[in-house]
Amino acid sequence: MDAEEAANKAMKKLVEEASQLKYMPNVPLKIYLRSANSLFLQANRYKEEDDLLNAYKFYMRYATLALEKLPQNSDYKKPEYKSGRLELVKTSNLVLKEIEELKPKLKRYFLQVAEEEAAEKTRNLNVQVEYQSQTPQVIPVSNTEWDLAEQLKNLHLGTSSKTITMEEQPHLTVQYPGISTRNQSDGYTYTAREIPSPALPPKIMHDAPKIPPKPRGYDLNLHSEKADNKVEPPPEFAAYTEGGEGLRKVCLSDSIYDVFIKIAANNTAKNLETCGILFGVLTRNVFYVTTLIIPKQTATSDTCTMTNEEELIEYQEQKGLIMLGWIHTHPSQTCFMSSMDLHTHSSYQVISPEAIAIVCSPKHQPKFGIFRLTNPPGLQTVLQCTQRGFHPHDSSSPIEKEISHNGHVEMKRMDLEIIDLR
Ligand SMILES: [Zn+2]
Repeated sequence: MDAEEAANKAMKKLVEEASQLKYMPNVPLKIYLRSANSLFLQANRYKEEDDLLNAYKFYMRYATLALEKLPQNSDYKKPEYKSGRLELVKTSNLVLKEIEELKPKLKRYFLQVAEEEAAEKTRNLNVQVEYQSQTPQVIPVSNTEWDLAEQLKNLHLGTSSKTITMEEQPHLTVQYPGISTRNQSDGYTYTAREIPSPALPPKIMHDAPKIPPKPRGYDLNLHSEKADNKVEPPPEFAAYTEGGEGLRKVCLSDSIYDVFIKIAANNTAKNLETCGILFGVLTRNVFYVTTLIIPKQTATSDTCTMTNEEELIEYQEQKGLIMLGWIHTHPSQTCFMSSMDLHTHSSYQVISPEAIAIVCSPKHQPKFGIFRLTNPPGLQTVLQCTQRGFHPHDSSSPIEKEISHNGHVEMKRMDLEIIDLR
């Protein structure tokens, strides 16, 4: 396969992968419009960061959702969605333009990767041929210090005077790597430069595993200086769903429980729930929860309902924030996801697969939990469920998963802006 062919194949694979989108017809159009908005924001962000591969993927997903899937939605033609439809068409035009602009750049990138791989292969083959053509050098054993009989004799006598070190061998005056020296004056640790040992035969690389093309953050000039001071990109995914879908990392302030419990204190004292919505940004493939918005709401001891959703969405769009989940209290109950919580959360997880639900239960242990619906079967089970109020969900596998220690969320010291719209 020549480089051109390999590049075409890689491009085709990307298009196939990028246009794959699990569409669930029973999800309300309103939720999908938000999901589309989130895809568009993320695509723009990747483009800003020169992560063209992910930018392309997310623009493609937007186009697939907006132009192929959503027109099938039963709500699509309803008059109340007229402005939503117009917005979709307008954004789709922008997205298609972006896709067309990205295509030749990605094609060029794949071509360069293929050419690099082909060149590498040729280099390795040359090394192999060169090595095989060399006459092996036979070193007479008796002339070296590696004299087995001498060694055994020393061992037998119990002396250690003949321990052979590299320094004693006249032909091998190589300084070996891995030696760090701490400088006394500045305390900085200097590490010796790596010099390969000449005693080893050249490695034959033709069986070496192929280096996959950089999934993100690559620059289109493969020979730029950047290779010298490499910054390791964060891993693409922090965890995977039950169905194998990658979840990008979500970073969250480690003070969120304390902050939210304070905000909720008045309601908690009256045995009323409080809820807040988590928003954030995407930076180098990692989500950061930067903003906690407390919407206007009505509550009971075990439910909480937002009443000014439009105001919230307006604020989010104005700031270009991505919806990343929600947080609520259980003023008297334990830390778990009620069936109503699961239903609420299903919408968030359609908008963004990384969306999380945080539950704070100040009167119980554990008092804090982070949840997501399993996918599958949790997300699908709840989206297909038509029951309202509190009800059990039948499933042989768990519907939700607590992920505060083993998921895609990282709690760390970081800022959290609070916007109280009440
Ligand atoms: Zn249900």
